[in-house]
Amino acid sequence: MIELTVLGAGPAYTARPGAVGAAYLLQHGSDAIVLDLGQGAFTNLAGAIEPSLLRGIAISHLHPDHFIDLVSLRHYLRWDFDPSRRVRVVGPSALEARLDALHDQPGFAAASLDIEGLAGRDHVAMASFDLEARLVRHTDESYGFRVTAGDGPGLVYSGDCGDADTLRPLIHPGDTLLSEASYGIDHVAPGSEHLNAYDVGRLAAATGAGRVLVTHLLMGHDRDATASAARELAGVEVDVVDPGDRFSI
Ligand SMILES: [Zn+2]
Repeated sequence: MIELTVLGAGPAYTARPGAVGAAYLLQHGSDAIVLDLGQGAFTNLAGAIEPSLLRGIAISHLHPDHFIDLVSLRHYLRWDFDPSRRVRVVGPSALEARLDALHDQPGFAAASLDIEGLAGRDHVAMASFDLEARLVRHTDESYGFRVTAGDGPGLVYSGDCGDADTLRPLIHPGDTLLSEASYGIDHVAPGSEHLNAYDVGRLAAATGAGRVLVTHLLMGHDRDATASAARELAGVEVDVVDPGDRFSI
C-alpha cells in the first residue's frame, strides 16, 4: 500500500491561503519519494519528513510551480549537513542546466542533487517504488507518472497536461488518478495546455480509474462544482485535494 500525503496542490498562482506549488509525498514502508516540488512546497515537505532521507524525486516538467523548490532542497542538503547529503532527482533532460542557469553557477545543482534525465526511459526504480513515465502534451518535455509499490494498484499523476488521451496508457483499472483540472468546470484557455473537470471525468470513466483526486485548480474556479462535474462523468469518488490531505492507495 502507498500512502499519499499532499504537500502542495497549487497552480502557478492563487489567492487560496496556504496554497503552495505541486508536491506529493508517497510512502511505502520506510521508503519515501516525492512527485514534483513546486514553489513553497519545501516547507511542507520538511514538516512531513526529513527531506535528506528521500529515496527520489520525480519532476513532471520545468514550470516553477512544479520544480522550483529543488533550490530550497539543494541549499538544505548542501548547508545543513557536513558533509552535504544528496538526493536523487529524475525529470526532463534540461532540469540540471535550468537550475544552474537560474544561479548563473555551473555545478550549482550537482552540489547536492543527483539529477537524471527521463528521456527514453519508461520505468525507473526508486527504492521499493516503480515509476513509469510517459510524455504528455504540455511543454516540449512533460511527463505523467504511474507509481506502484509491489502488486497493489497504482497512483497515476497527470503533471500538467493539455490532452487527456496522452494520459490514458498510464491508467490501469482500479488505479487512483491524481489529475489536474486547472480550469474547473470552465473552458480551457486555448494554448494553455491544461484540462478541466469534464476531461478528467471522461478520462477516469474510459480507463476504469477507481478514484479521482483533482488538483492544480486555478484561482477563481469553483471547487465543489468541479468535483461534482467530474464525479458525474467518472462514476467514482472524486475529491479536490489540499495540502495535508492523506490517502491510502
Ligand atoms: Zn505547467
